[in-house]
Amino acid sequence: VTTARVLILDDNANVAATLEAIARRSGHEARSTTDAQEFLRVAADWCPSHLILDLVMPETDGMQVIHALAALRCQAGIIISSGAGARVLDAAQRAAVEGGLVIVGTLPKPFRPQAVRNLLAVGPRDLEHAAAGPPSLASATSAELRKALAANALEVFYQPKIRCSDGSVAGVEALARWPCGPYGRPVPPAEFVPLAERDGLIGHVTWRVIEQAFAWFASCPTPPTVHLAVNISAVLLGDAGLVDQLGAAAASHGLEASRVVLEVTETGALADPLTTLEVATRLRLRGFSLSIDDFGVGYSSLVQLARLPFAEIKIDAAFVRDIDRSAEARKIVGAVIGLGRSLDLQVTAEGVEDERSLKFLRDAGCEFAQGYFIARPASGDATAAWLRTRRTISA
Ligand code: C2E
Ligand code: MG
Ligand code: MG
Repeated sequence: VTTARVLILDDNANVAATLEAIARRSGHEARSTTDAQEFLRVAADWCPSHLILDLVMPETDGMQVIHALAALRCQAGIIISSGAGARVLDAAQRAAVEGGLVIVGTLPKPFRPQAVRNLLAVGPRDLEHAAAGPPSLASATSAELRKALAANALEVFYQPKIRCSDGSVAGVEALARWPCGPYGRPVPPAEFVPLAERDGLIGHVTWRVIEQAFAWFASCPTPPTVHLAVNISAVLLGDAGLVDQLGAAAASHGLEASRVVLEVTETGALADPLTTLEVATRLRLRGFSLSIDDFGVGYSSLVQLARLPFAEIKIDAAFVRDIDRSAEARKIVGAVIGLGRSLDLQVTAEGVEDERSLKFLRDAGCEFAQGYFIARPASGDATAAWLRTRRTISA
Protein backbone atom coordinates (compact mmCIF):
# COMPACT_ATOMS: atom_id res chain seq x y z
CA VAL A 1 0.00 0.00 0.00
CA THR A 2 1.41 3.40 -0.94
CA THR A 3 1.53 6.06 1.71
CA ALA A 4 -1.17 8.65 1.32
CA ARG A 5 -0.84 12.21 2.55
CA VAL A 6 -4.17 13.04 4.08
CA LEU A 7 -5.57 16.43 5.01
CA ILE A 8 -8.78 16.52 7.05
CA LEU A 9 -11.34 19.27 7.56
CA ASP A 10 -14.08 18.79 10.12
CA ASP A 11 -15.60 21.43 12.36
CA ASN A 12 -15.85 18.84 15.12
CA ALA A 13 -12.34 18.60 16.62
CA ASN A 14 -13.00 15.08 17.92
CA VAL A 15 -14.01 13.79 14.52
CA ALA A 16 -11.01 15.51 12.92
CA ALA A 17 -8.65 13.93 15.46
CA THR A 18 -10.26 10.50 15.04
CA LEU A 19 -9.88 10.61 11.26
CA GLU A 20 -6.27 11.75 11.63
CA ALA A 21 -5.54 8.88 14.03
CA ILE A 22 -7.13 6.30 11.70
CA ALA A 23 -5.06 7.58 8.78
CA ARG A 24 -1.84 7.54 10.85
CA ARG A 25 -2.49 4.05 12.18
CA SER A 26 -2.90 2.81 8.59
CA GLY A 27 0.59 4.13 7.84
CA HIS A 28 -0.38 7.37 6.12
CA GLU A 29 0.79 10.91 6.79
CA ALA A 30 -2.05 13.01 8.16
CA ARG A 31 -2.95 16.54 9.29
CA SER A 32 -6.29 17.88 10.38
CA THR A 33 -7.92 21.21 11.05
CA THR A 34 -11.30 22.63 12.03
CA ASP A 35 -10.76 25.81 10.04
CA ALA A 36 -11.69 26.08 6.36
CA GLN A 37 -9.19 28.84 5.55
CA GLU A 38 -6.31 26.92 7.08
CA PHE A 39 -7.49 23.81 5.25
CA LEU A 40 -7.29 25.58 1.90
CA ARG A 41 -3.85 27.00 2.72
CA VAL A 42 -2.44 23.59 3.67
CA ALA A 43 -4.15 21.96 0.66
CA ALA A 44 -2.24 24.36 -1.59
CA ASP A 45 1.15 24.12 0.19
CA TRP A 46 1.48 20.61 1.60
CA CYS A 47 0.44 18.73 -1.59
CA PRO A 48 -1.86 16.19 0.03
CA SER A 49 -2.84 13.11 -1.98
CA HIS A 50 -6.21 12.90 -0.21
CA LEU A 51 -8.60 15.38 1.35
CA ILE A 52 -11.36 14.37 3.74
CA LEU A 53 -13.91 17.12 3.84
CA ASP A 54 -16.99 17.57 5.99
CA LEU A 55 -19.89 18.95 4.01
CA VAL A 56 -21.91 20.41 6.85
CA MET A 57 -20.11 22.98 9.00
CA PRO A 58 -21.57 25.93 10.88
CA GLU A 59 -19.14 28.60 9.63
CA THR A 60 -18.50 27.74 6.00
CA ASP A 61 -20.45 25.23 4.02
CA GLY A 62 -18.57 22.41 2.40
CA MET A 63 -19.71 23.41 -1.07
CA GLN A 64 -17.83 26.70 -0.76
CA VAL A 65 -14.71 24.78 0.14
CA ILE A 66 -15.27 22.50 -2.86
CA HIS A 67 -15.65 25.57 -5.05
CA ALA A 68 -12.37 27.01 -3.72
CA LEU A 69 -10.58 23.68 -4.30
CA ALA A 70 -11.81 23.65 -7.89
CA ALA A 71 -10.46 27.20 -8.35
CA LEU A 72 -7.09 25.95 -7.03
CA ARG A 73 -7.28 23.17 -9.63
CA CYS A 74 -6.71 20.74 -6.79
CA GLN A 75 -5.91 17.22 -8.01
CA ALA A 76 -5.97 15.39 -4.68
CA GLY A 77 -8.44 12.55 -4.25
CA ILE A 78 -11.37 13.99 -2.30
CA ILE A 79 -13.47 12.10 0.22
CA ILE A 80 -16.67 13.89 1.14
CA SER A 81 -17.89 13.10 4.63
CA SER A 82 -21.17 14.13 6.10
CA GLY A 83 -24.14 13.21 8.19
CA ALA A 84 -26.34 14.60 5.40
CA GLY A 85 -28.39 12.10 3.43
CA ALA A 86 -27.23 10.05 0.47
CA ARG A 87 -28.93 12.34 -2.05
CA VAL A 88 -27.14 15.41 -0.76
CA LEU A 89 -23.84 13.53 -0.77
CA ASP A 90 -24.51 12.42 -4.36
CA ALA A 91 -25.35 15.94 -5.48
CA ALA A 92 -22.24 17.39 -3.81
CA GLN A 93 -20.13 14.70 -5.43
CA ARG A 94 -21.51 15.49 -8.88
CA ALA A 95 -20.96 19.21 -8.42
CA ALA A 96 -17.35 18.56 -7.41
CA VAL A 97 -16.75 16.28 -10.39
CA GLU A 98 -18.22 18.85 -12.75
CA GLY A 99 -15.84 21.41 -11.22
CA GLY A 100 -12.93 19.20 -12.31
CA LEU A 101 -12.20 17.67 -8.90
CA VAL A 102 -11.37 14.03 -8.33
CA ILE A 103 -13.74 12.33 -5.93
CA VAL A 104 -12.49 9.12 -4.36
CA GLY A 105 -15.73 8.46 -2.55
CA THR A 106 -18.14 9.56 0.13
CA LEU A 107 -18.02 8.74 3.81
CA PRO A 108 -21.47 8.83 5.38
CA LYS A 109 -21.36 9.49 9.15
CA PRO A 110 -21.18 7.62 11.43
CA PHE A 111 -18.32 5.77 9.75
CA ARG A 112 -16.27 2.72 10.58
CA PRO A 113 -12.44 2.93 10.49
CA GLN A 114 -12.39 0.26 7.78
CA ALA A 115 -14.46 2.48 5.49
CA VAL A 116 -11.86 5.22 5.89
CA ARG A 117 -9.01 2.79 5.20
CA ASN A 118 -10.72 1.47 2.04
CA LEU A 119 -11.14 4.98 0.68
CA LEU A 120 -7.54 5.94 1.44
CA ALA A 121 -6.34 2.88 -0.45
CA VAL A 122 -7.70 4.47 -3.64
CA GLY A 123 -5.36 7.05 -5.12
CA PRO A 124 -6.45 9.96 -7.30
CA ARG A 125 -4.58 8.33 -10.15
CA ASP A 126 -6.94 5.37 -9.95
CA LEU A 127 -9.81 7.57 -11.01
CA GLU A 128 -10.59 9.38 -14.18
CA HIS A 129 -10.79 13.10 -14.11
CA ALA A 130 -13.97 14.88 -15.02
CA ALA A 131 -12.48 16.72 -17.92
CA ALA A 132 -10.52 14.31 -20.09
CA GLY A 133 -7.67 16.83 -19.87
CA PRO A 134 -6.23 18.80 -22.74
CA PRO A 135 -6.55 17.06 -26.08
CA SER A 136 -3.38 15.37 -27.27
CA LEU A 137 -1.14 17.69 -29.28
CA ALA A 138 -0.87 15.42 -32.25
CA SER A 139 -2.50 12.08 -32.87
CA ALA A 140 -0.57 8.99 -31.90
CA THR A 141 0.97 6.82 -34.61
CA SER A 142 0.85 3.07 -34.90
CA ALA A 143 4.63 2.93 -34.29
CA GLU A 144 4.01 4.54 -30.90
CA LEU A 145 1.16 2.16 -30.18
CA ARG A 146 3.37 -0.78 -31.13
CA LYS A 147 6.01 0.47 -28.67
CA ALA A 148 3.39 0.90 -25.94
CA LEU A 149 2.20 -2.67 -26.52
CA ALA A 150 5.76 -4.01 -26.37
CA ALA A 151 6.34 -2.10 -23.12
CA ASN A 152 3.06 -3.38 -21.69
CA ALA A 153 1.93 0.20 -21.24
CA LEU A 154 -1.77 -0.33 -21.88
CA GLU A 155 -3.97 -0.60 -18.83
CA VAL A 156 -7.56 -1.55 -18.19
CA PHE A 157 -10.16 0.48 -16.33
CA TYR A 158 -13.54 -0.85 -15.31
CA GLN A 159 -17.02 0.62 -15.29
CA PRO A 160 -19.86 -0.99 -13.35
CA LYS A 161 -23.28 -1.68 -14.76
CA ILE A 162 -26.34 -1.84 -12.51
CA ARG A 163 -29.90 -3.16 -12.62
CA CYS A 164 -32.27 -0.22 -12.99
CA SER A 165 -34.93 -1.88 -10.83
CA ASP A 166 -32.95 -2.08 -7.59
CA GLY A 167 -29.52 -0.55 -8.23
CA SER A 168 -27.70 -3.84 -7.68
CA VAL A 169 -24.47 -4.56 -9.59
CA ALA A 170 -25.00 -6.60 -12.76
CA GLY A 171 -21.57 -6.45 -14.33
CA VAL A 172 -18.38 -4.61 -15.06
CA GLU A 173 -17.08 -3.46 -18.45
CA ALA A 174 -13.37 -3.49 -19.19
CA LEU A 175 -12.13 -0.41 -21.07
CA ALA A 176 -8.66 -0.09 -22.57
CA ARG A 177 -6.50 2.79 -21.38
CA TRP A 178 -3.25 4.20 -22.75
CA PRO A 179 -2.34 6.44 -19.83
CA CYS A 180 0.99 7.70 -21.01
CA GLY A 181 1.11 8.11 -24.78
CA PRO A 182 3.17 10.50 -26.89
CA TYR A 183 4.07 13.70 -24.98
CA GLY A 184 3.27 11.82 -21.77
CA ARG A 185 -0.46 12.38 -22.29
CA PRO A 186 -3.23 9.85 -22.11
CA VAL A 187 -4.58 8.78 -25.49
CA PRO A 188 -8.32 7.97 -25.50
CA PRO A 189 -9.50 4.63 -26.93
CA ALA A 190 -11.63 6.56 -29.43
CA GLU A 191 -8.28 7.49 -30.96
CA PHE A 192 -6.09 4.41 -30.56
CA VAL A 193 -8.71 1.70 -31.19
CA PRO A 194 -9.47 2.90 -34.75
CA LEU A 195 -5.73 3.30 -35.31
CA ALA A 196 -5.16 -0.27 -34.14
CA GLU A 197 -7.99 -1.51 -36.36
CA ARG A 198 -6.54 0.28 -39.36
CA ASP A 199 -2.98 -0.96 -38.88
CA GLY A 200 -3.60 -4.54 -37.83
CA LEU A 201 -2.87 -4.07 -34.11
CA ILE A 202 -6.39 -4.54 -32.81
CA GLY A 203 -5.87 -8.24 -32.01
CA HIS A 204 -2.83 -7.32 -29.99
CA VAL A 205 -4.67 -4.57 -28.08
CA THR A 206 -7.67 -6.79 -27.44
CA TRP A 207 -5.64 -9.66 -26.05
CA ARG A 208 -3.76 -7.35 -23.70
CA VAL A 209 -7.08 -6.10 -22.38
CA ILE A 210 -8.58 -9.59 -22.12
CA GLU A 211 -5.58 -11.02 -20.26
CA GLN A 212 -5.59 -8.19 -17.71
CA ALA A 213 -9.36 -8.11 -17.36
CA PHE A 214 -9.77 -11.89 -16.93
CA ALA A 215 -6.97 -11.97 -14.32
CA TRP A 216 -8.49 -9.04 -12.43
CA PHE A 217 -12.01 -10.43 -12.56
CA ALA A 218 -10.87 -13.88 -11.41
CA SER A 219 -9.13 -12.31 -8.40
CA CYS A 220 -11.99 -9.97 -7.52
CA PRO A 221 -14.64 -11.53 -5.28
CA THR A 222 -17.97 -10.98 -7.03
CA PRO A 223 -21.20 -12.96 -6.84
CA PRO A 224 -21.77 -15.34 -9.79
CA THR A 225 -24.54 -13.09 -11.12
CA VAL A 226 -21.98 -10.37 -11.92
CA HIS A 227 -20.51 -10.57 -15.41
CA LEU A 228 -17.44 -9.17 -17.09
CA ALA A 229 -17.84 -7.39 -20.43
CA VAL A 230 -14.99 -6.86 -22.87
CA ASN A 231 -15.10 -4.93 -26.14
CA ILE A 232 -14.36 -6.85 -29.32
CA SER A 233 -14.00 -5.13 -32.67
CA ALA A 234 -16.19 -6.79 -35.25
CA VAL A 235 -13.12 -7.38 -37.42
CA LEU A 236 -11.91 -9.94 -34.87
CA LEU A 237 -15.07 -11.98 -35.46
CA GLY A 238 -13.62 -12.62 -38.90
CA ASP A 239 -10.95 -14.81 -37.28
CA ALA A 240 -12.05 -18.41 -36.81
CA GLY A 241 -9.32 -18.91 -34.16
CA LEU A 242 -11.05 -16.50 -31.77
CA VAL A 243 -13.43 -19.08 -30.31
CA ASP A 244 -10.72 -21.45 -29.06
CA GLN A 245 -8.46 -18.62 -27.93
CA LEU A 246 -11.20 -17.04 -25.83
CA GLY A 247 -12.23 -20.41 -24.45
CA ALA A 248 -8.65 -21.14 -23.44
CA ALA A 249 -8.15 -17.70 -21.90
CA ALA A 250 -11.30 -18.04 -19.78
CA ALA A 251 -10.40 -21.57 -18.72
CA SER A 252 -6.88 -20.55 -17.72
CA HIS A 253 -8.37 -18.10 -15.20
CA GLY A 254 -11.05 -20.51 -14.03
CA LEU A 255 -13.70 -18.22 -15.50
CA GLU A 256 -16.92 -19.65 -16.83
CA ALA A 257 -17.75 -18.47 -20.33
CA SER A 258 -21.27 -17.66 -19.16
CA ARG A 259 -19.84 -14.84 -17.05
CA VAL A 260 -18.19 -13.16 -20.03
CA VAL A 261 -20.01 -10.76 -22.34
CA LEU A 262 -18.41 -9.77 -25.63
CA GLU A 263 -19.50 -6.29 -26.68
CA VAL A 264 -19.18 -6.08 -30.43
CA THR A 265 -18.34 -2.67 -31.82
CA GLU A 266 -18.45 -1.97 -35.48
CA THR A 267 -16.59 0.71 -37.28
CA GLY A 268 -17.01 -0.45 -40.85
CA ALA A 269 -18.66 -2.90 -43.12
CA LEU A 270 -17.74 -6.51 -42.39
CA ALA A 271 -15.12 -8.01 -44.67
CA ASP A 272 -16.33 -11.56 -44.35
CA PRO A 273 -19.98 -11.72 -43.23
CA LEU A 274 -20.23 -15.51 -43.33
CA THR A 275 -17.19 -16.17 -41.12
CA THR A 276 -18.45 -13.48 -38.74
CA LEU A 277 -21.81 -15.22 -38.47
CA GLU A 278 -20.15 -18.59 -37.86
CA VAL A 279 -17.73 -17.27 -35.26
CA ALA A 280 -20.47 -15.35 -33.45
CA THR A 281 -22.67 -18.45 -33.35
CA ARG A 282 -19.84 -20.67 -32.09
CA LEU A 283 -19.08 -18.14 -29.32
CA ARG A 284 -22.69 -18.39 -28.17
CA LEU A 285 -22.53 -22.18 -28.29
CA ARG A 286 -19.42 -22.01 -26.09
CA GLY A 287 -21.43 -20.08 -23.53
CA PHE A 288 -20.14 -16.55 -24.14
CA SER A 289 -22.72 -13.83 -24.39
CA LEU A 290 -22.78 -11.31 -27.24
CA SER A 291 -23.84 -7.71 -27.03
CA ILE A 292 -24.32 -5.17 -29.80
CA ASP A 293 -22.53 -2.02 -28.62
CA ASP A 294 -23.36 1.59 -29.56
CA PHE A 295 -26.71 0.50 -30.93
CA GLY A 296 -28.32 3.12 -33.12
CA VAL A 297 -25.23 4.86 -34.41
CA GLY A 298 -22.87 4.20 -37.32
CA TYR A 299 -22.78 0.61 -38.47
CA SER A 300 -24.36 -0.78 -35.33
CA SER A 301 -27.77 -1.22 -36.80
CA LEU A 302 -30.81 -3.37 -37.32
CA VAL A 303 -29.06 -5.35 -40.06
CA GLN A 304 -26.49 -6.68 -37.61
CA LEU A 305 -29.10 -7.16 -34.93
CA ALA A 306 -31.20 -9.30 -37.22
CA ARG A 307 -28.28 -11.34 -38.48
CA LEU A 308 -26.04 -12.09 -35.50
CA PRO A 309 -27.00 -14.01 -32.33
CA PHE A 310 -26.91 -11.14 -29.86
CA ALA A 311 -28.23 -11.44 -26.31
CA GLU A 312 -27.99 -7.76 -25.43
CA ILE A 313 -28.46 -4.32 -26.93
CA LYS A 314 -26.45 -1.41 -25.57
CA ILE A 315 -28.25 1.80 -26.46
CA ASP A 316 -25.69 4.35 -27.51
CA ALA A 317 -24.94 7.20 -25.14
CA ALA A 318 -25.81 9.66 -27.90
CA PHE A 319 -29.52 8.99 -27.22
CA VAL A 320 -29.28 8.34 -23.49
CA ARG A 321 -27.41 11.59 -22.87
CA ASP A 322 -30.38 13.60 -24.16
CA ILE A 323 -33.16 11.81 -22.29
CA ASP A 324 -33.64 14.69 -19.93
CA ARG A 325 -33.86 17.44 -22.54
CA SER A 326 -35.23 15.86 -25.68
CA ALA A 327 -38.60 14.24 -26.27
CA GLU A 328 -37.17 12.65 -29.44
CA ALA A 329 -34.37 10.99 -27.49
CA ARG A 330 -36.95 9.66 -25.01
CA LYS A 331 -39.02 8.20 -27.85
CA ILE A 332 -36.01 6.57 -29.48
CA VAL A 333 -34.78 5.10 -26.22
CA GLY A 334 -38.29 3.88 -25.45
CA ALA A 335 -38.60 2.27 -28.87
CA VAL A 336 -35.24 0.49 -28.56
CA ILE A 337 -36.24 -0.83 -25.14
CA GLY A 338 -39.46 -2.15 -26.69
CA LEU A 339 -37.54 -3.68 -29.59
CA GLY A 340 -35.17 -5.42 -27.21
CA ARG A 341 -37.98 -6.80 -25.10
CA SER A 342 -39.91 -8.08 -28.07
CA LEU A 343 -36.80 -9.87 -29.34
CA ASP A 344 -36.10 -11.22 -25.85
CA LEU A 345 -32.85 -9.29 -25.57
CA GLN A 346 -31.40 -7.58 -22.53
CA VAL A 347 -31.25 -3.84 -22.88
CA THR A 348 -28.55 -1.67 -21.33
CA ALA A 349 -28.47 2.11 -21.56
CA GLU A 350 -24.98 3.55 -21.59
CA GLY A 351 -23.90 7.07 -20.74
CA VAL A 352 -26.41 7.65 -17.93
CA GLU A 353 -25.27 10.94 -16.44
CA ASP A 354 -28.09 12.00 -14.13
CA GLU A 355 -30.69 10.69 -11.77
CA ARG A 356 -33.69 11.73 -13.88
CA SER A 357 -32.43 9.73 -16.86
CA LEU A 358 -31.98 6.68 -14.67
CA LYS A 359 -35.52 7.09 -13.39
CA PHE A 360 -36.87 7.45 -16.93
CA LEU A 361 -35.04 4.28 -17.98
CA ARG A 362 -36.36 2.32 -15.04
CA ASP A 363 -39.94 3.45 -15.69
CA ALA A 364 -39.55 2.65 -19.40
CA GLY A 365 -38.59 -0.92 -18.52
CA CYS A 366 -34.88 -0.75 -19.33
CA GLU A 367 -33.13 -3.49 -17.40
CA PHE A 368 -29.56 -2.23 -17.05
CA ALA A 369 -27.74 1.08 -16.92
CA GLN A 370 -24.19 2.25 -17.03
CA GLY A 371 -22.75 5.76 -16.85
CA TYR A 372 -21.03 8.49 -14.90
CA PHE A 373 -24.07 8.90 -12.65
CA ILE A 374 -23.54 5.36 -11.43
CA ALA A 375 -19.75 5.22 -11.56
CA ARG A 376 -16.93 6.50 -13.74
CA PRO A 377 -14.46 4.03 -15.17
CA ALA A 378 -11.74 3.38 -12.59
CA SER A 379 -8.71 1.16 -12.03
CA GLY A 380 -9.10 -2.46 -10.97
CA ASP A 381 -8.22 -1.61 -7.34
CA ALA A 382 -10.63 1.30 -7.21
CA THR A 383 -13.39 -0.76 -8.83
CA ALA A 384 -12.84 -3.63 -6.40
CA ALA A 385 -13.15 -1.09 -3.56
CA TRP A 386 -16.29 0.37 -5.15
CA LEU A 387 -17.82 -3.09 -5.44
CA ARG A 388 -17.10 -3.69 -1.73
CA THR A 389 -18.39 -0.45 -0.32
CA ARG A 390 -20.98 0.85 -2.73
CA ARG A 391 -24.35 2.05 -1.68
CA THR A 392 -27.30 1.09 -3.81
CA ILE A 393 -27.90 3.72 -6.46
CA SER A 394 -31.41 3.98 -7.72
CA ALA A 395 -33.66 6.70 -8.89
P1 C2E B 1 -18.02 1.74 -25.38
O1 C2E B 1 -17.66 0.30 -25.36
O2 C2E B 1 -19.38 2.10 -25.83
O3 C2E B 1 -17.73 2.25 -23.92
C1 C2E B 1 -18.44 3.27 -23.29
C2 C2E B 1 -17.69 4.56 -23.35
O4 C2E B 1 -18.47 5.60 -22.76
C3 C2E B 1 -16.38 4.57 -22.55
O5 C2E B 1 -15.51 5.46 -23.24
C4 C2E B 1 -16.80 5.17 -21.24
O6 C2E B 1 -15.72 5.73 -20.52
C5 C2E B 1 -17.77 6.21 -21.69
N1 C2E B 1 -18.77 6.55 -20.69
C6 C2E B 1 -19.28 5.77 -19.73
N2 C2E B 1 -20.24 6.40 -19.04
C7 C2E B 1 -20.33 7.63 -19.58
C8 C2E B 1 -21.17 8.77 -19.28
O7 C2E B 1 -22.01 8.77 -18.40
N3 C2E B 1 -20.98 9.87 -20.06
C9 C2E B 1 -20.07 9.90 -21.05
N4 C2E B 1 -19.94 11.03 -21.77
N5 C2E B 1 -19.28 8.84 -21.37
C10 C2E B 1 -19.42 7.73 -20.62
P2 C2E B 1 -14.01 5.08 -23.51
O8 C2E B 1 -13.47 4.27 -22.40
O9 C2E B 1 -13.32 6.33 -23.91
O10 C2E B 1 -14.11 4.09 -24.74
C11 C2E B 1 -14.59 4.52 -25.98
C12 C2E B 1 -14.81 3.35 -26.89
O11 C2E B 1 -13.57 2.75 -27.25
C13 C2E B 1 -15.62 2.23 -26.27
O12 C2E B 1 -16.99 2.56 -26.30
C14 C2E B 1 -15.25 1.08 -27.16
O13 C2E B 1 -15.98 1.12 -28.36
C15 C2E B 1 -13.79 1.39 -27.47
N6 C2E B 1 -12.95 0.56 -26.60
C16 C2E B 1 -12.55 0.76 -25.33
N7 C2E B 1 -11.78 -0.26 -24.90
C17 C2E B 1 -11.71 -1.14 -25.92
C18 C2E B 1 -11.08 -2.42 -26.09
O14 C2E B 1 -10.45 -2.98 -25.19
N8 C2E B 1 -11.23 -3.03 -27.32
C19 C2E B 1 -11.96 -2.45 -28.32
N9 C2E B 1 -12.06 -3.11 -29.47
N10 C2E B 1 -12.56 -1.27 -28.17
C20 C2E B 1 -12.45 -0.63 -27.00
MG1 MG C 1 -18.59 -1.32 -24.78
MG1 MG D 1 -21.03 1.88 -26.44
